[in-house]
Amino acid sequence: MQQNQWTVACVQLLRHWSRSGIQQVPASTPQSIARAADWLEEHADVSSPIDSAREVSTFKADPDILAKESKPVSTESLLSTKTLPVPGSASLTAVTKGDGKWSSSSLSLADRQMAFNSLNEQVVLCRKCEDIVCRRQRTVFGIGSVNARVVMFGEAPGAEEDRVGEPFVGPAGQLLDKILSASGLKKPEVYIVNALKCRPPNNRTPTDSEIENCRPFFEAQLETIQPEFIVCWGAVAVRAVLGSTESIGRLRGKFHNYRGAKVLVTYHPTYLLRTPDAKKLTWDDMKMLMREMGTPIPERN
Ligand code: URA
Ligand code: URA
Repeated sequence: MQQNQWTVACVQLLRHWSRSGIQQVPASTPQSIARAADWLEEHADVSSPIDSAREVSTFKADPDILAKESKPVSTESLLSTKTLPVPGSASLTAVTKGDGKWSSSSLSLADRQMAFNSLNEQVVLCRKCEDIVCRRQRTVFGIGSVNARVVMFGEAPGAEEDRVGEPFVGPAGQLLDKILSASGLKKPEVYIVNALKCRPPNNRTPTDSEIENCRPFFEAQLETIQPEFIVCWGAVAVRAVLGSTESIGRLRGKFHNYRGAKVLVTYHPTYLLRTPDAKKLTWDDMKMLMREMGTPIPERN
């Protein structure tokens, strides 16, 4: 991260703290910027390009940068030459058009990683969802291989994910882990992401406008990975990826399309925990995925 971008990120974070009532800190003093820098290093897994960020006396915030701070760094500019899908209207945008193709050419692994680091920095600073942002502990970007063949697409972080900052680490995640290991999927083949980066209060279902607020992030992640397959776990993932409100029961059992990726729909692990009879159906869906991937289907009960 460039020093300029870093300073902008710090100032945006301070603004966010003020607006959301988290804490009142002036946006432009070296002391408060150093405090934001500390927070970003600790929580956002990015390292400051300014060695002396904590040595307040030597830290100089460039007034020109501060003047520009209110303009967020756009996803497009961070992913430089690539054209990214932009968010549609406030209502749910159906993206599964038969014309599906990725809108940019494939990136090198190093560029994918860089793109994800930049995106994550923006996610950390995002404050679009008023009801959510003041209550979240961590943002949950996603985890796995930037070179994944399959993206596992979930709903939103729960309490445990909000605490840890990783998707699917709570009870639903433990079931997902079991399903993935039973399917013989190897870690480098998978990336795990959610429709929302932040936990909705009390795990309520994400609203359409929250999904739209997060769309630029998850679409940029999909566009960066360009997976061959996407598995939508549950109704919210289906709304986000396919723009459909059809039931899982009607959508599962066939491949749908998202920009050329084959999309499979199955039940959410939380639903499977409550409805164990449906596990067999999800296992059928996983076998269909394995067959299409050309990977062996492990023996199972
Ligand atoms: N449920 C989800 O959909 N995603 C998570 O990350 C955790 C639980
Ligand atoms: N309803 C949902 O929201 N998800 C499921 O997985 C099944 C039913």
